[in-house]
Amino acid sequence: MILRLTGEQLRFLKDESRKAHPIEACALLFGRLNFREAVVTKVVVMTNVLEASTRFKADPQKVFDAFEEAERNGLQFVGFFHSHPAPARPSRVDLQYMRLWGEAVWLILSASDGRIAAFQMTDGNLHELTIKVESTRRPETGNVSS
Ligand SMILES: [Zn+2]
Repeated sequence: MILRLTGEQLRFLKDESRKAHPIEACALLFGRLNFREAVVTKVVVMTNVLEASTRFKADPQKVFDAFEEAERNGLQFVGFFHSHPAPARPSRVDLQYMRLWGEAVWLILSASDGRIAAFQMTDGNLHELTIKVESTRRPETGNVSS
């Protein structure tokens, strides 16, 4: 499984994480998802309402609004982004939520070493995805991050 991001999206997520630090930053990722690859075409930053450095929670209404807008634009939900003060590995809490969110991709940025990693839970097994950062998005996908 491959997760495709643009360099611009990655820089944006890193900036948001820096701004939020030491609170965990979080965002929703939308685009296209199939069994072989996830392509992010839209990043929607969420405020971490827990204001915590080890957990995140987005405002449910904002999550709902983002899903609705994505639906209108014909985008699929790809997954979640959040930053960690620790290594870019899912925490125990993350793993619990991953089980609830089916095929969602979990993109984690470590604020300590700047490393980024993506995971997916399939049939109760944790898989690490290959992240491909593209300098420019291929034209047919349009719609860059906001
Ligand atoms: Zn986490």
